[in-house]
Amino acid sequence: MQNETLRPEFTPIGLADFKPTIDPTMQQHAEGTLIDKYGRRISYVRLSITDRCDFRCTYCMAEEMTFLPRHEVMSLEECLRVASVFVGLGVSKLRITGGEPLVRKDAMWLIDRLGSLPGLENLVLTTNGSQLDRFAQPLYDAGVKRINISLDTLQAERFKKITRIGDLHKVLNGIDAARAAGFLRTKLNVVMMRGTNDDEFVDLVRFAVSNELDISFIEEMPLGEIHGRNNTYISSEETRQMLAPHFELIPSTENSGGPARYWRIPGSTSRIGFISPHSHNFCDTCNRVRITAKGELYPCLGQNDAVNLLQVLRASSSQEALRQAIIDSMGIKPFGHDFTQQMDAPHVVRFMSMTGG
Ligand code: SAM
Ligand code: SF4
Repeated sequence: MQNETLRPEFTPIGLADFKPTIDPTMQQHAEGTLIDKYGRRISYVRLSITDRCDFRCTYCMAEEMTFLPRHEVMSLEECLRVASVFVGLGVSKLRITGGEPLVRKDAMWLIDRLGSLPGLENLVLTTNGSQLDRFAQPLYDAGVKRINISLDTLQAERFKKITRIGDLHKVLNGIDAARAAGFLRTKLNVVMMRGTNDDEFVDLVRFAVSNELDISFIEEMPLGEIHGRNNTYISSEETRQMLAPHFELIPSTENSGGPARYWRIPGSTSRIGFISPHSHNFCDTCNRVRITAKGELYPCLGQNDAVNLLQVLRASSSQEALRQAIIDSMGIKPFGHDFTQQMDAPHVVRFMSMTGG
């Protein structure tokens, strides 16, 4: 049933239209907090523990990828040191990501320790689901609170085409394993691609509803040089209009602290989210930074400035130097990203698998 009245607008906000004011008092750090120069408090870190993956999703990677040599990747101990310092600075949410985090050898060693890090309230994971049948239970037992699983299609052949090598059934088994292990509110992430999976959005929502999953539709971002993006971009609003005749979408005021905007379907526990970096960005309330597997701290997914924490980690075993480098990085957090719909000429040359989604 269509619901015309309860529809928040997607108002494109160009960064050029928004002039942030910098209040110098906002740059003062209360002990144990991270605050950037626009007064935004950083409470959420996304930590990529590998750039490697067992899939090669067409929107995320080139077909032939060169992965980092081992010595350029943070050791698991180094990942733990970085996470501990962030938590000491007031970060309460940490997302483990990649690449595919569950292909990192001994990933559970790290996740077990993060799960019992005092002060870390919310340990979550993003995965392609391929290894979840083995890892769902240990992840739950380690204290991981919630899992996001990428799933762009429910058709096995199409899944193989999008991921280049993935097996849909392994992922579906992984989703079942997550539920059996006790995970609630597992979320599916769907990258919207015109001509590739846009005929399945309704089916994907039905699948989410019948399996008590949340689902988020993501606008494709121009990260890394991948050709053909201009032709496949679909906005959140277009997808929402596609769904509207099939589901009564009630706008929700819920906020996961991130860029998604949510809708609910009456009678279902599922939330339908839209992540709209192009058509509706949320840079003004950004609360996060990202750490790559190489130990680079990227204050913004959509910009190229970074701080090299690996050098600091390896120069000294002191946590103080690391703490200072992280505090100093707040000075380069930009106001926002500059994604344009010139998707074939990316301003950001890193693939998403490098930065961690
Ligand atoms: N391998 C894991 C997975 O696929 O969930 C975690 C890493 S992956 C880089 C994290 C998320 O980024 C996935 O949901 C994926 O769909 C999304 N992603 C990758 N490339 C993207 C792009 N160019 N635009 C938008 N989302 C992208
Ligand atoms: Fe791998 Fe995730 Fe990128 Fe797909 S989206 S290639 S699963 S890192």
